[in-house]
Amino acid sequence: MADNKPNLLIIPGDGIGPEVIRETSRVIEWFETNRKVTFHITHGQLGVAAYHDVGAMTPDNTLDKARKADAILFGAIGGDGYEDIPIEVRREDGLLALRKKLGLFANIRPAVAFDELLDASSLKPEVVRGVDLIIVRELSSGIYFGEPRGIEDLGNGIQRGFNTMQYTTPEIQRVARLSFELARGRRNQLCSIEKSNVLETSKLWRAEVRKLHQAEYSDVDFKELIVDAGAMELIRNPKQFDVIVTGNMFGDILSDAAAMLTGSLGMLPSASLSEEDESGRRNAFYEPVHGAAPDIAGNDIANPLAAILSFAMSLRHSFDAEAEAELLESAVRNAVAGGNRTADIKGDATQTISTTQMTDAVIDSLNRLAA
Ligand code: NAD
Repeated sequence: MADNKPNLLIIPGDGIGPEVIRETSRVIEWFETNRKVTFHITHGQLGVAAYHDVGAMTPDNTLDKARKADAILFGAIGGDGYEDIPIEVRREDGLLALRKKLGLFANIRPAVAFDELLDASSLKPEVVRGVDLIIVRELSSGIYFGEPRGIEDLGNGIQRGFNTMQYTTPEIQRVARLSFELARGRRNQLCSIEKSNVLETSKLWRAEVRKLHQAEYSDVDFKELIVDAGAMELIRNPKQFDVIVTGNMFGDILSDAAAMLTGSLGMLPSASLSEEDESGRRNAFYEPVHGAAPDIAGNDIANPLAAILSFAMSLRHSFDAEAEAELLESAVRNAVAGGNRTADIKGDATQTISTTQMTDAVIDSLNRLAA
């Protein structure tokens, strides 16, 4: 690379991925034209379409580009044809494998309830008004990766499916440390969620996070919840949470529940980060929390805001552009405040707009804010 521009790899993926990434690219262009943030942009394939095109869900050249990228912006994987790909291929070559190869151990998932969208939430407005929390989900270990795993034949037509839930001390410490640091930059509260009343993995998790709190982060207001109580509290009184740290599977489930606080999966961005290398560089992967949404793909009705907000997270966490991240988040908020609603966040609105029109509204807000 001849210039000093950071490397941004864009991977649209499957289903609504290409639609929401196409729209996010328009927002990226706006920043390149109107702000001093420019990128060396490359594109890659990943997912079902890639598997059918070149026989690999993550083609080698995508992996090469991913290793060199300062940030990766991804749409979604899955949908039509996904289930037909052998499970071993999906496991060894799909999104989970890429996360593992890039060492993406921390998945940061903010859930912010916009006042303007309270009517789109299935919960009462007084419960969700003011919700501003982050779930940090451990992403590269736990039951999704533990070995042994499989389905074995026990004879007589009986099979046994089994997985291994596991965490090591360093795996717990690094995700807990990142979460304590995030909390310090916000309202200084961290809640660790596990199942230590039943699972040995969680007993170790609890002991390690507690130790770290006492040794290095005693200034952080810290509490612990068992996952079933945590799920209940997230719905009963979500405003009590600032940062939540939890394991891979619990985080997967709790963050989708948190989506409903904000009104729709279509509003939730995420960032996945690796550890820093000696030069302070991290691998960083930004993607909406939602999947390929095959039920609405190709109709220009998907909500692009989760993808656009994922780009905002990249401005903050990878490109040292906090002011631009805040500008984009304000533009999204203003677009929604102006009554612009895709179908998933329709709430009490009488009209809905398309994916493209929602992006038009965000760009219009950016122009107004920058004027
Ligand atoms: P999904 O997130 O794709 O969709 C769930 C529901 O939310 C659907 O009704 C969908 O229409 C709606 N939805 C999702 N995103 C939306 C958006 N931006 N705007 C409007 N509505 C939206 O989850 P699913 O249906 O369980 O899974 C579909 C496929 O996606 C499966 O193959 C699954 O494995 C895959 N998946 C991928 C990821 C990922 O790429 N990280 C995440 C979850 C699921």
